[in-house]
Amino acid sequence: MIDEILEYNRQFVERKGYEPYVTDKYPRKKLAVLTCMDTRLTELLPKALGLGNGDAKIIKNAGGLVIFETDSAIRSILVAIYELGVTEIMVVHHSTCGACHMSYDHFKPHMLESGISDEVLKEWEGKGIGPWLEGFHDTEASVRKTVEAIVSHPLVPKTITVRGFIIDSVTGQLAEIK
Ligand code: ZN
Repeated sequence: MIDEILEYNRQFVERKGYEPYVTDKYPRKKLAVLTCMDTRLTELLPKALGLGNGDAKIIKNAGGLVIFETDSAIRSILVAIYELGVTEIMVVHHSTCGACHMSYDHFKPHMLESGISDEVLKEWEGKGIGPWLEGFHDTEASVRKTVEAIVSHPLVPKTITVRGFIIDSVTGQLAEIK
């Protein structure tokens, strides 16, 4: 598959397919969106929110979650605020998310089958792999928790607006969670 992508890429550049997307690194709408890596959202989310290239920083991970205060999502949010001028953040979780009901207990047997040793897993259990790989059970509660994790983060200024939403994975309809 990667070789096919490389061939496509060669042709894309050759026919100047990039021309409609030329912009700079500063988000025109001063917006960051923290959302899930789900493939259903790849095109649907920006289209449903009216976001084009250059409009917003889109930060993605499994579930669109913040687990720890040093998470990569928080790091990206801080860069978006202090380096790129973002003033508003949307947390957007989605219906029937794969991170719903995700847990380390579910991954563990697959990891063992894939050749990861018991010893390594024990070591990682000591490093907090359990909560790190934990999904959520209630999507609305998870949105509220993620918004709260950003709003209450000691390095996020109080002037930043953070609002939470659930997007329908089929229709793209947004529902605000308060
Ligand atoms: Zn998801």
